[in-house]
Amino acid sequence: MLDKIVIANRGEIALRILRACRELNIKTVAVHSTADATQKHVLLADESVCIGPPQSIDSYLNMPAIISAAEVTDAMAIHPGYGFLSENADFAERVEDSGFVFIGPRGETIRRMGDKVSAIKAMKDAGVPCVPGSDGPLGDDSEENFRIGRKVGYPVIIKASGGGGGRGMRVVHTEGALLNAIALTQAEAKAAFDNEVVYLEKYLEHPRHIEFQVLADNHGAAIHLGERDCSMQRRHQKVIEEAPAPGISEKQRSKMGRICVDACKSMGYRSAGTFEFLYEDEEFYFIEMNTRIQVEHPVTEMITGVDIVRAQLEIAAGEKLKYDQQDIRISGHAIECRINAEDPKSFTPSPGPIRLWHAPGGPGIRVDSHIYSGYNVPPFYDSMIGKIIAHGADRNTAIARMRNALTEIVIEGIKSNIALHQEITNHGAFQAGGTDIHYLEKRLGL
Ligand code: ADP
Repeated sequence: MLDKIVIANRGEIALRILRACRELNIKTVAVHSTADATQKHVLLADESVCIGPPQSIDSYLNMPAIISAAEVTDAMAIHPGYGFLSENADFAERVEDSGFVFIGPRGETIRRMGDKVSAIKAMKDAGVPCVPGSDGPLGDDSEENFRIGRKVGYPVIIKASGGGGGRGMRVVHTEGALLNAIALTQAEAKAAFDNEVVYLEKYLEHPRHIEFQVLADNHGAAIHLGERDCSMQRRHQKVIEEAPAPGISEKQRSKMGRICVDACKSMGYRSAGTFEFLYEDEEFYFIEMNTRIQVEHPVTEMITGVDIVRAQLEIAAGEKLKYDQQDIRISGHAIECRINAEDPKSFTPSPGPIRLWHAPGGPGIRVDSHIYSGYNVPPFYDSMIGKIIAHGADRNTAIARMRNALTEIVIEGIKSNIALHQEITNHGAFQAGGTDIHYLEKRLGL
């Protein structure tokens, strides 16, 4: 096993990783910015190293500082969490070139999956269904681009190959708007991602977002842990996630799960990963792969009993997967609400000191959060301050438990989006299940 690791992240995921390490008797090094010295995981870690000033670019994105922290503390491995450097192929390679284990896939895998054009190509080659589209980058030939647009059929979406976080996308409804949209998206992509490659896909009008969780070891074994429905989104950011996805049959699950597992094997994937799909008219279309732990991993943990972070640590230590596909059984239903420090109506961030925090409890309730009474939410980072996960024997029980939990929470001193979660979970369309990715924005009148 690994004897000591650096947790190169902050907030709830840093605490989640620390907890998994403690269970496995792995020592932990928390690296943190000057704004985060009183984070819960920093206080609980065996050692901590301040790696820079508050701005992420100087701390959580500062590769030499993080690698030096591993060197001076004699750690063996680095867990990147999500966000920050977690999908940075150069970082993964620099970690391994410096003699540490990167807790995630190989750098070359991250690079291939991080570029959407090459990811889609790899997926097509592996037999994963993709959105009909240009099958590669769009060139300068206007006639050819018109031909592709006509073949795919409008509306279409122009997407940046290097895009992420919901940026670098433009929907085109008519042929007349195509060339301008391509030029604009190329210019934005060049400025934002230093990569002007764009491609075209059919724009699906009422899809759901359904993703499959996989685990693969260094010995050629891979399994899937079923799917999650993350359709409840605002500005392409997930707000509520659940597993399993309402209405997906066991037959669909095992078929798509097998396709993902085969794709992992064909690309030599290692560690935890997620295949994201749009789902419309009973068909799945691959959109991207996330080569890291995801925010919403707990809903899968609750229904399968598999500790995904622990599995990442075991895989990184070179161990074989502890489960075969037939060991994975789905039990009940789980829902996660992301709690953000923000105004529930305007969505503007609401950092500052938390005067009082009272966490919910009761059967089936899990709280993944780093906050505590007296904790100061810094203004420099993502506004998510925790996640409430409700598990029950069936979806209705999970919803009822979530609704209870939301009424029990007390957060004083800052604003939070709990009122939004209460409104969504009380609404008939959510209770019926299967809403599409546009539901929330339409409901909010955006
Ligand atoms: P990112 O890496 O920026 O998250 P994705 O490719 O995962 O980009 O897409 C993010 C979101 O954009 C999807 O969850 C969906 O809401 C929307 N989207 C992307 N591609 C399409 C498409 N072909 N049709 C309709 N919506 C899409």
